[in-house]
Amino acid sequence: MREPEQQVAREAVSRILTGQPRPDVVAWLKAEGHHGTMGGEWTTGSLGRFLANPAIAGLERDPETGELRETGRPGLITPEEFKQLNAQAGRTNAVPPTRDADFPYLLSEGVAECGQCAGPPMTGGRTNAGTPSYRCQECGIRITAAALEDYVGENVLGELSRPATRKALEAAQREFQLEADSLRQQIEVLTGQRKELAAPFAEGQVSRDTLVAADRAVSEKLRTARARLRFVEQVADVPLGGVEDLVRWWEHAPHASKRAMVVLLLDGVQVMPARARGVRGADGRVVLRWRTARAA
Ligand SMILES: [Zn+2]
Repeated sequence: MREPEQQVAREAVSRILTGQPRPDVVAWLKAEGHHGTMGGEWTTGSLGRFLANPAIAGLERDPETGELRETGRPGLITPEEFKQLNAQAGRTNAVPPTRDADFPYLLSEGVAECGQCAGPPMTGGRTNAGTPSYRCQECGIRITAAALEDYVGENVLGELSRPATRKALEAAQREFQLEADSLRQQIEVLTGQRKELAAPFAEGQVSRDTLVAADRAVSEKLRTARARLRFVEQVADVPLGGVEDLVRWWEHAPHASKRAMVVLLLDGVQVMPARARGVRGADGRVVLRWRTARAA
C-alpha cells in the first residue's frame, strides 16, 4: 500500500475503535473518494474483510492451531488494535464496548505525562463514576480528560492561528519523517539478523538455547522499533501540505489526525498534582512543552 492509503486505513480503524458504526466509516471513505485495495468502491463487506485480515497487523494465523502469530512483516495497525477490532466485530452490538476503549483519548501514547513522578506516561481510563480521565500509574494523580483535552485544544488552536506555526510544523514533521526512515532501516537490519540466526544453529555451532535467547532479543527490538514506527508514521504522514487553514482543519480533523497534530506541536503535556483535594481541573496544573519552541 502507498502511504496515503496506509493513512486512510489507519484512520478507518481508529474511527471504528472509537465507536463509529462501520456503515458510517464506509460513507466517510466514499465521501473522501477513497477506493478499496482492489480499486473498487468500499462496502461494509469489503471493509469487514479488510479488517478481518491479520496481515494488516503484521500477523498470520497458525494453520494448525488458528492462533495469531507475528509474521515479521510490517503492519498498518498494532496487534493490540487488531484484537480489539475483532473482539468488537465478534460482539455484533450485543455488548457495549469496554468502558476504557470507548473514549478516544487524545493524549494517550505518551503525550500526557506525570509532573510529580517526572516522566511516566499517564494512561486514559474511567473513574469509578465513569468519567474519562488520565491517571498516573505510579502515584495515582488524575485529571479529567475533558479538562485536560479542552485546555490542550485551546492552546493548540491558539498556536495554529499564529502565522509562524506552519513552518515550525513542517520542520517538526521532517524530523519525524527522518526518524521513520531510520526506523525502517533499523527494522530491515534486525529482520536480516533474525534470519541469519538460524545458520550457526543448523551448522551445530550454537546450542538451541543460545538460538532461542538470541532470537528473543532480536524479536523484542523489532517489536519496539515497529511500535515506534507506527506511532511516528501517523505523525509523519498527516497531510499538512494541502491544508490552507490550520484552525479550520483542527475543528474538523478526525481524531487520529488531531492526535498527530498535538504530537507535532507538543513534545509533552505535564500534569501536576491538584493543590486541593477534589480539584480535577486543568487550572494551574498543566505545563505544555512546545516542540515548535514558539518560533518567532
Ligand atoms: Zn505520578
